[in-house]
Amino acid sequence: MKSVTVFVAFLCWVSQSYSQEIFKKNFSLMGSQFDITLVASNEIEAAQFIEAAIGEMKRIEKLISSWDNNSQTSLINKNAGVAAVKVSRELYDLIERSIAISRLTDGAFDITYASMDAIWKFDGSMREMPSEKEIVKSVAYVGYKNIVLDSNLSTVFLKQQGMKIGFGAIGKGYAADKAKKLLQSRGVIAGIINASGDMNTWGKKPNGEDWTVAIKNPMAKQQVFATLPIKNRAVVTSGDYEKYVKLDGKKYTHIIDPRTGYPSYGIVSVTVFAPGAEMADALATSVFVMGKAVGIDRINQLNGVDCIIIDDKGMVYTSNHIKINKEYEKK
Ligand code: ADP
Ligand code: MG
Repeated sequence: MKSVTVFVAFLCWVSQSYSQEIFKKNFSLMGSQFDITLVASNEIEAAQFIEAAIGEMKRIEKLISSWDNNSQTSLINKNAGVAAVKVSRELYDLIERSIAISRLTDGAFDITYASMDAIWKFDGSMREMPSEKEIVKSVAYVGYKNIVLDSNLSTVFLKQQGMKIGFGAIGKGYAADKAKKLLQSRGVIAGIINASGDMNTWGKKPNGEDWTVAIKNPMAKQQVFATLPIKNRAVVTSGDYEKYVKLDGKKYTHIIDPRTGYPSYGIVSVTVFAPGAEMADALATSVFVMGKAVGIDRINQLNGVDCIIIDDKGMVYTSNHIKINKEYEKK
């Protein structure tokens, strides 16, 4: 009798593990379109997991938003040049990691780019080029070296009045990493967190196949130029085709070169593969600013990190370990 019960339990377990399905939900967060794909046994279970992941990402949005006047990030900005602000360890650590990426990229990535938000607006409200004078004045406030951290007190101080920090180039990646972590801790065996193109994946599809990601052709948005399998890694694409402003017939992207205060140019899309989405997000933005040669050189020095760059002439450049179908270039 006992062995029958064990056998029945075994059968239930087998059928349960085989009845795993893929569930997906789209939603808006951080002013963008996100989606979560995950593997679960049924719809109710999947909905609970997805709600938990959304909750986690909303929590992060509250912490890092520069729009929310009451966020810790806004408090840091309001106190620029005035006082050091005590923040949660989580925000402190994110700022510390952002500064590490600034060092790694010789300042191409810089969360203090945010004082330029007053000059370059990508919400459709800009009508004319800002003056050289305005740009020079604003860019003087950009400089990660003027962020003063005190680890013991967990405080952040922006040295100059007028300085600002913003997590536009790293926050979505961070949120994707945290949502993945949360779902993994709850036992979700596989999934994709897609924070508006910033993706982190884990596990495999129930049929044993790897997740695949489609990389869009920035020259023709509806076309996919490469489909790549992705195993327990993050992939992020920064493109100039979603957020930009057109002035005097010229396109200016939302990625600012912190050295000049002008939008960076020459590249239309950068895709970075890395162990985590935060790293991939920050590096995709950095490569945009660093340009093809320096960008690829820097990526080649990082273990487990790869990139694909498409420049404004439609040419594709890749780091050493990327193998893509080069058909695209022949078209
Ligand atoms: P997306 O918004 O498509 O995810 P990115 O990850 O490249 O694109 O982030 C671009 C955003 O990062 C900009 O909208 C701005 O908020 C911010 N940003 C712009 N230039 C820089 C920079 N040099 N370093 C850090 N953040 C930047
Ligand atoms: Mg980025």
